[in-house]
Amino acid sequence: MIITITTAALFLLLTAVITLRTIRFSSRAEALEHLPKQREQFPLAVTHLSEAIRFKTVSHYDRSLTDWEAFTAFHAWLEKTYPHAHACMSRDMINTYTLHYRWEGRRSEIDPILLTAHQDVVPVGDLDHWEHDPFAGVIEEGYLWGRGTLDVKNQIITIFEAIEQLAAEGYTPERSIHLCFGHDEEVGGSEGAGSAVEYFKQQGIHFSMVLDEGGAVTEHMLEGINRPIATIGIGEKGYMDLVLKSSSAGGHASMPLQQTALSTLARAIVDVQSSPMPARLTPAPLQMFKTLGPYMSVSSRIVIANLWLLKPLFLKIMGRNPAGNAMIRTTMAATMAHGSDAANVLPTEAEGIINVRLLHGDSPEDVISYVQQVLHGQGIIIERRRAEGPSAISTTDSPEFERLTKTIADIFPAAVITPYLMVGGSDARKYEPIADHIYRFCPYQLEATELGRMHSYNERISVQNIYAGVRFFTSLIRAFDPQQI
Ligand SMILES: [Zn+2]
Repeated sequence: MIITITTAALFLLLTAVITLRTIRFSSRAEALEHLPKQREQFPLAVTHLSEAIRFKTVSHYDRSLTDWEAFTAFHAWLEKTYPHAHACMSRDMINTYTLHYRWEGRRSEIDPILLTAHQDVVPVGDLDHWEHDPFAGVIEEGYLWGRGTLDVKNQIITIFEAIEQLAAEGYTPERSIHLCFGHDEEVGGSEGAGSAVEYFKQQGIHFSMVLDEGGAVTEHMLEGINRPIATIGIGEKGYMDLVLKSSSAGGHASMPLQQTALSTLARAIVDVQSSPMPARLTPAPLQMFKTLGPYMSVSSRIVIANLWLLKPLFLKIMGRNPAGNAMIRTTMAATMAHGSDAANVLPTEAEGIINVRLLHGDSPEDVISYVQQVLHGQGIIIERRRAEGPSAISTTDSPEFERLTKTIADIFPAAVITPYLMVGGSDARKYEPIADHIYRFCPYQLEATELGRMHSYNERISVQNIYAGVRFFTSLIRAFDPQQI
């Protein structure tokens, strides 16, 4: 009897605590409208981005396939199109094709900021899948179509439009502003951003903030949230390719062994895929869920407000979909496999690749020893190829983050602004040695379907988003004048 009363009392207490914490985690789940009609319009910006798309600045792992003249022609076009910007900034080339601009501020004692993006684009694939020629810059029914309209010539052009306009008005920033536009981000970025970092080191240039591509303002990305979400990347996961190798005797496939090198490898791959690394909540995703929690449904709020008790349930729910799962664990994806070179030949060796994205707290060595345990006794050789741990996480408790979020709020008033962990990689992390804070954000409001067009077919940007981008960078440059905070 006493036990029953104690249990009931505990249950009541628990319910009271959960309710109280959920109430304190107050609801702000009202729906707000989307990208407001822009107060100012910049038709020239649309024309200019359309022209910029026509330069076929496609990068390839095999450099000999790249049309370098397209890059040179793009540089000349920028110079001709933005005379005021070019008059107020100095320009130099890093590794021939990466553009570096410097807009000298009035106060040299303040650390400058760097706005960065990349000139190169990925190949367009099968032209038949495109509704419009990807390099024609077609403008139709409020959209500009083409490769690079979202990833990421839009960033270069909206930055230039903003500077051209400010320079024409006679504005000079207090703090120096640098621009750096790499030429090989889509193929690793070592010659562009990688060399740029070395260049900045040699010049003794240190940035208080680097702003690169990354998050955006997205709609309908999280179930239950009726408002657009502006995500600022404050860090990114690590990257590693794990090579699994198995071997067996060769021979003719008409007299096979019970297991071939490839079938042994296949079993190992299945074992790795069905043994996910443990889930956990690291600071960047936690910060995101705490920010977004008040805008979520009651049931989600109950869970997020009471993670002290419900974390296992939360991790279980997150692990159910690929996007959530990527935020809570180091993921491993089998992407490539190779056996023999002919259909009727037994392979003597088989090789498979597991692409790993490392969560903060896991090192490449941790993952290798985990996989070794999973594959213990199977005769599989494990090697690593290209391994980079997770990036540093930039704090959100900085004047730079505050200036950035104020600018986003000004341009996208309906958006909930949140830090987040990027699960893909970018050039941004290369700047760690020369920057205090690195944030990743693109000022465009996108539907999930629009995001899916990047690196795919029918990439396009709305005219409203081009206007938003110009307004954003104009405000951002002004917001970084020291007297603004
Ligand atoms: Zn990009």
